[in-house]
Amino acid sequence: MVTPRLEIDLVKIHHNARCLVERLASRGLTITGVTKVALGSSEIARTMLAAGVHSIGDSRIENIEKMRQAGIVATFILLRTPLMSQVGQVVAHADISFNSELDVIEKLSEAAQQQNRSHRIVLMVELGDLREGMAPEDLAAAVRRSIELPNIEVSGIGTNLACFGGVKAEHQQMTHL
Ligand SMILES: *Cc1c(COP(=O)(O)O)cnc(C)c1O
Repeated sequence: MVTPRLEIDLVKIHHNARCLVERLASRGLTITGVTKVALGSSEIARTMLAAGVHSIGDSRIENIEKMRQAGIVATFILLRTPLMSQVGQVVAHADISFNSELDVIEKLSEAAQQQNRSHRIVLMVELGDLREGMAPEDLAAAVRRSIELPNIEVSGIGTNLACFGGVKAEHQQMTHL
C-alpha cells in the first residue's frame, strides 16, 4: 500500500443503520444518517436511506449539494449554523438547518423569500458542552422572533452534547432540554 486508504464496507453500514432504525422505531424515534465524515459520499447516503434512515445530515452545504446532484432524494439537514455567506445555497439545497443566531435566521428568511421556498430550522440550545447554541434563557425570545419570520418554519429545538466539552447526554441535560 503506497498511501493510507479507507475501505468502506457498505454491507456493514447497511446492517448497522438497519439495526438502529429498527431498535429506535420501537420507541417512536427516527434517525438521521450522517455523511460528513465521508465528504458527503453518495454511496453511503444511498445505503443508509435503503436501510431506512429518515434523513441525511451533513455539516457542509457543498456535500449536500453534491448528493442532490447525484440524484439522491431525501430530507437533507445541515447539521451546523449556516455561514452568512452561504444562506442562499443553504435555502436552495438543505431542507433543515441547525441555528444559534438570530442574525443568520433573518438572512435565511430573506434568502427563502427571494427563492420562494420555505426553510425549516432547529434552534440549538447550549447545555454545557460549549460548542454551539444559544443560552437557554434566550431561547423563548428566539422562538418568538423566528416564528414571525416569513418563509421560516421552526421545526424544533436541539442541543449538541458529548462533543467539544465532553458533557454527556445524561438525564439531567435531556430533562433540561
Ligand atoms: C460536525 C458538526 C459541526 C462542525 O462541522 P465542521 O464540518 O467540522 O465544520 C458543528 N456542529 C454539529 C452539530 C456537527 O455535527
